[in-house]
Formats: sequence, structure tokens, C-alpha cells
Amino acid sequence: MIPIRPVAADPPSASPATPDRARQLWLQPGQIALPALPPLSLYVHVPWCVRKCPYCDFNSHAAPGAEGSHEIPEDDYLDALRADLEQSLPLVWGRQVHTVFIGGGTPSLLSARGLDRLLSDIRALLPLDADAEITMEANPGTFEAERFASYRASGVNRLSIGIQSFNDRHLAALGRIHGTAEAHRAVEIALANFDNVNLDVMYALPGQSLQECAQDLETALGFGTTHLSLYHLTLEPNTLFARFPPALPDDDLASDMQDLIEARTAESGLRHYETSAYARPHRESRHNLNYWRFGDYLGIGAGAHGKLSFANRVLRQMRHKHPATYMAQAKSGNAVQQAHDVSADELPFEFMLNALRLTEGVPAASFHERTGLPLHTISRQLAAAEAKGLLEADLTQIRPTELGRRFLNDLQEMFLKA
Ligand code: SF4
Repeated sequence: MIPIRPVAADPPSASPATPDRARQLWLQPGQIALPALPPLSLYVHVPWCVRKCPYCDFNSHAAPGAEGSHEIPEDDYLDALRADLEQSLPLVWGRQVHTVFIGGGTPSLLSARGLDRLLSDIRALLPLDADAEITMEANPGTFEAERFASYRASGVNRLSIGIQSFNDRHLAALGRIHGTAEAHRAVEIALANFDNVNLDVMYALPGQSLQECAQDLETALGFGTTHLSLYHLTLEPNTLFARFPPALPDDDLASDMQDLIEARTAESGLRHYETSAYARPHRESRHNLNYWRFGDYLGIGAGAHGKLSFANRVLRQMRHKHPATYMAQAKSGNAVQQAHDVSADELPFEFMLNALRLTEGVPAASFHERTGLPLHTISRQLAAAEAKGLLEADLTQIRPTELGRRFLNDLQEMFLKA
């Protein structure tokens, strides 16, 4: 599946979180002054998949044991997640959690009992909103009707399914473990248990024609789910596809596919609210919106990233990536491998990198609220982007134009040096 990740400009680089470090973060002066802390979300990473897909650059590892056995060291991992969460509490004391996202990897490799324990631990340790959005990612090859009813009973209220395609030839080319029949069955089981379902579907697949893209799109739309995430397949470094690139549709064909997606999603009542995200009214992913609005998130689990604000600094963290290392380190109190304060120089770019993905952009005032810096820090870049027709900005809203959304990388790069 293609989990949505918060966008960070740079990997973090030093100093794990300790109780002393937590005190420093709260008490010592920093480079900025935030008027208030942003909303807080929780991300939980489950790092195993049945097998690694050739296009995937996420922190996912083939599950131990023979393929098909789906064996993961569940109890050990849940112990580590609880220890990680307990160690993190001093950094988020007194803060309400609005959304939870259990991503991976393939979180649907967790047993119903394991998922129930995870959510119980989270509820016991963190103040969760009564109406918190709790999303879980699932893969069609791991769908079992009974298990999914249990996930719902445990409190998961939004399911995100990594379909990718409804075409057997393309699923095989993507190295997926499921076929078309399983994809259909997965969506049917999901809709029988959840009223808030996202489907991840990719386009510009190896050898895909415009008609095949249209067929996948119509099938996905036909289920009437609340949300679609429609991704352009890209060849990421350090993947099998980067080493042995498949033949992909050319830019013109990919652009025709994007135009088709724009038209058909709009006709079907889905609003294109973020680069790859389409939702029915009020069914946008609240968790992902918090990333794009530069909100805070505590990330626990192997390789999970976090961003946490304090009165005068913004901290980024990364957990140990390898599952075995993470489990050992988390249990001995050192889940965080790297952490650093985001400098005042980096904050404008990090904020804009996320905000510009949103079709509506963000309120201009949120720049100061989330970075602690005055809006005039980026006035030169805003003016330059406006002059190029990439952006509209006034005292109330910063919003990319259609041209800006099409050339998003160019627009984002204009804020590299504020
Ligand atoms: S199932 Fe998803 S997370 Fe796992 S390897 Fe494939 S693309 Fe990556």
C-alpha cells in the first residue's frame, strides 16, 4: 500500500529523547516563539509485509517465516510500542490526541487481539478525543471478514485499503500478493464493517493504457467509498524498480490519465483537496490534513518519524528503523535514534512543503501559529510565486493556483531559502 507520510525536508540528526531532554525542550529558550501548540496526532508504524513490493521505499520488511504464514513477533512488538509510548509521554503531557493512524508496512497482519491490545494501550496512556479518527491500513491479501469486524469493534473507524489496481496483469507487474478477485472482496468486507473507507489506487503503471486506467478508476468510483487516494507510480531510489526500471507510460499519457482522474472524480462528487487525495464532503482524512497543516504528530514504531512543538522550538524525531533493533532499543528506553530541533531557517520551507499540497492552501495566520515566525519572513518568496502565477496570497489565505499545483516541486523550491 502507499501510506501517506508527513513531508519533512531533512532527516533528523542527533540526540535521543530522555527525561532531561524533555525538561530542556519545555524550559530552555529556543529560536522561535509559538503563540500556541498545534493539534496533536499519533502515528503507529507496523513494519512488516507478506513480501516487499518492488516499487516500495517505505520502512517495510518481509514478515519472518515462510511466505503465507504471516508470522510477526506480535507480542514483542506490542511490548516495544507500549514502552516507546510511555517514554514519549513527557513530550506530550496534557495534550489531547485528535487522530490515530496505524500504518506500515501492513498493519492488517496484526491479529484482532493484537490490535485490540494496541488501542487499549493507546487509550490508557493518551487522552484521545471521544470522536477521534482512528485509521488503519490494510492490504487485500490479508483480509479476513471476522478480523475486520473485530478491528471495527476495537475502535478503528476508518479503513485505508492498498488496492493499487483492479487489473491482474498490473497487480502482477507491481509484485502485489493479491489479485482482482481479492481486491473486490476486500472492499466489500470493508464496506460491510466501516462507513469511512479509503482506497489507494495507482496510475501510470507499467504498460498501462488510458483505457485500463479508466477501468480501474470506474471500478474504484463504483464502490462509492468516502475517499480515494490516487497516486502516480514513481520510481523511488533504493527500490527494485529503480534498479530494473519497467516501461512506464510517457509524460503525455500520464498527464491524460491525470486529466481523466480530475474530471471523473469531480463528476462523482469527490473533491480533489490534496495532491493525491479525493474525498466526499467532510470525509477528508483528518489525520493527513494535520500533517499538511503542519500540525504535530508523535510517531511510534520502527522507523516512525515525529514532529512535536514546544513553546520555543519544533522537534523532529526518528525511531530505530530495523524492527529487531527497534524492539530491543525501545524496551531499554532508547526507541529514538535521531532527534533535532528544526532551525528557524528551515521552518518556512518545511511549512510550505506541506501547506502547498492542499488545494485550498492554508490560512495565512497559520504560518505564524505553526512556525512562530512572522509572515513577512516569506513575503519575498510569496510575491515571486504570485508574479509567476503559481500562488495566490493575501492577508487571509495562501493558496496554490492550478498552475502551482501542476508545478508543485518548482513552487515548493521557491521557499527553500526564506
Ligand atoms: S504492501 Fe505496501 S508497505 Fe508493504 S511492501 Fe508493498 S507497498 Fe510497501
